[in-house]
Amino acid sequence: MAELDKEVRYLSGVGEKRAKLLGKLKIFSFRDVLMHFPRAYEDRTVFKAIGEVTLGESVCVRVTVASEPVYSYVRKGMELLKFRVTDGADIMNVTFFNRGYLRNEIHRGDDLVLYGKIGGNERRPEMINPIMEREASEGGATGKLVPIYRMTAGINSRYIEKLVFSVLERCGDELPDPLPSGIRKKYQLCSAGYAYENIHFPKDYESLDTARRRLIFEELFVIACAMKLMRGTRITKAARVPKPADLNEYYRAMPFELTGAQKRAINEAVSDMTSGRPMSRLVQGDVGSGKTVVSAACCWLVVKSGYQAAVMAPTEILANQHYQTFSTLLGGLGIRVGILTGAMTAKKRRETLEAIKTGEIDVIVGTHALISESVEYKTLALVITDEQHRFGVQQRAALSAKGESPHVLVMSATPIPRTLALIIYGELDVSVIDELPAGRQKVDTFAVGENYRTRVYNFVRKIVGAGNQVYIVCPMVEEGEDLPPELKSVEEYGKQLKEEIFPDISVGIVHGKMKPKDKERVMSAFGAGETKILVSTTVIEVGVDVPNAVLMIVENADRFGLSQLHQLRGRVGRGKDKSYCILFKGAGGDISAQRLKILCSTNDGFEIAEEDLQLRGPGDFFGSRQHGLPETKISEYTRDIDLVKLAQQAALDTLADDPKLDKPENQKLYEEIERVLAKSADTFS
Ligand code: ADP
Ligand code: MG
Repeated sequence: MAELDKEVRYLSGVGEKRAKLLGKLKIFSFRDVLMHFPRAYEDRTVFKAIGEVTLGESVCVRVTVASEPVYSYVRKGMELLKFRVTDGADIMNVTFFNRGYLRNEIHRGDDLVLYGKIGGNERRPEMINPIMEREASEGGATGKLVPIYRMTAGINSRYIEKLVFSVLERCGDELPDPLPSGIRKKYQLCSAGYAYENIHFPKDYESLDTARRRLIFEELFVIACAMKLMRGTRITKAARVPKPADLNEYYRAMPFELTGAQKRAINEAVSDMTSGRPMSRLVQGDVGSGKTVVSAACCWLVVKSGYQAAVMAPTEILANQHYQTFSTLLGGLGIRVGILTGAMTAKKRRETLEAIKTGEIDVIVGTHALISESVEYKTLALVITDEQHRFGVQQRAALSAKGESPHVLVMSATPIPRTLALIIYGELDVSVIDELPAGRQKVDTFAVGENYRTRVYNFVRKIVGAGNQVYIVCPMVEEGEDLPPELKSVEEYGKQLKEEIFPDISVGIVHGKMKPKDKERVMSAFGAGETKILVSTTVIEVGVDVPNAVLMIVENADRFGLSQLHQLRGRVGRGKDKSYCILFKGAGGDISAQRLKILCSTNDGFEIAEEDLQLRGPGDFFGSRQHGLPETKISEYTRDIDLVKLAQQAALDTLADDPKLDKPENQKLYEEIERVLAKSADTFS
């Protein structure tokens, strides 16, 4: 086995326990250690004289110990060691907490290099628990850029640094190097050896830049090649080609007249599917533009020819919702719709799997349970994924693999800037639904402060009194995040609303940590109109459709992205009644107030996305996992857009020259692509 693929426990200093902890950081092999790139660097290159330091800064000083260390035992767990140091001109105090053992090691007259934050006062600066060395040396801890790694309890950054160091020592001759040498020369990229050495232990900022550029390029290049290869493999014959059918039959069965844009998208999809090649199409349309009927039409077409379709949703809630919608839309046309989620009982699951296998179910709706190994289809011809930004390319590929190149339809409400569309949807054709169903009203949107709270609650009563329903959304709070006092956690706030503010109104509460079964119950009670107010986190962000809900209240709106708020707002304004969205501004500053104004002034998702991008910068716009591209370790698609373009071009050139990557110089590249694809597929299965 290659050294790099060895398990991390074979490194010295890693026992079973540590190996387990490292697993939490997704570090399993030597390779993973190497790829655990620093998240930041601490600059310990700046040396100053004591007389030059300023309070609060972190610097290195070269000093001599000027007084014998004084040890004091305050109490158990609290020992102090104090001494003075000098650089010949000025004096500084040094204090160590709980390092009593140092008293035998440090003596008056010793030369030391210290790195730490300057405390004390102007007259007598002080360092507390500084990093200390006898002299700055290579491999040491001062006088250089020090990598800061993501850590976990029991594994600190310094420990990882040591692991990286020993991996580099052991694997220096066989570092991962997927770049063909022609590409490396053409784009003037440094060698793999230099890159790994300097990404972890940079000599200076310049070498760090050189290393970063190479590794980012490499990562993007591998991804670009992977996407292109996948596109290459899709242009084969579709396994199951539905027969053309009269769409009017479908249109007549719908509860409303379809918009021109909906019909156009359906026509495009139908002509893809009947062409003999597998369809790979993205339907992009703002929230509420009516993407569901478009996808249902595709289901209808393949089922008419005796085939099956699978509809995959990103959450259980949405899967349930789609199950209901598809049943309603297609049931009248004699189509049997089923559902498969992780929340089902074992018995029900077995029965459903059997029905899928025998073909008793025509259209199966579900979460990513649909791509698990145990699902066998009889005649899968079409795969639909909703809100594709929550799914990766690999998940689509995994599902496609089950049905011998089925047709793929992807629906998304997330407008993305043009530059990125190419890489993200590079392998898809696009239909845009640019027209809202007739009679759709603008959702009146207001951004308000706390002083409006009573009025807003009264408004809620009025809405409920008129027979309509209300959403109240709170931001998701990361586990372990300290709750700022003004932040509303959904559980507590929900309880307060239910028991104190609206004791006479039925209130439902739903959030991500609940069991799927419970979520389902709360959602269907709201859908059926039994509960009038639904308090939730963003679990309802995508796709939930309750036309009777006409008021959306968002707490701490400053904590959300604009596009996300727009998605949330899309949950109302779906029926015939006038709808409203009220954003509580929260504690955000001017920028956030300015951002919220945009929402109040337009209902156009694309315009909002553009503004969002300008105000917040791209890094923020695409939160992790939002884009359906493979996760990256070192690149950021939007920040590194220039390298994205170069890597794209390099990928095109490479594959034009060697379409299947079977030339010897491309072997390592091919292996790396396989590794990347396999890895991202794992994450979800
Ligand atoms: P999205 O594009 O956000 O997924 P949906 O497919 O959920 O939108 O549709 C939003 C709402 O609009 C649904 O309640 C749906 O029944 C309704 N709808 C869709 N198309 C039309 C139409 N052509 N005319 C009237 N209502 C429509
Ligand atoms: Mg939808």
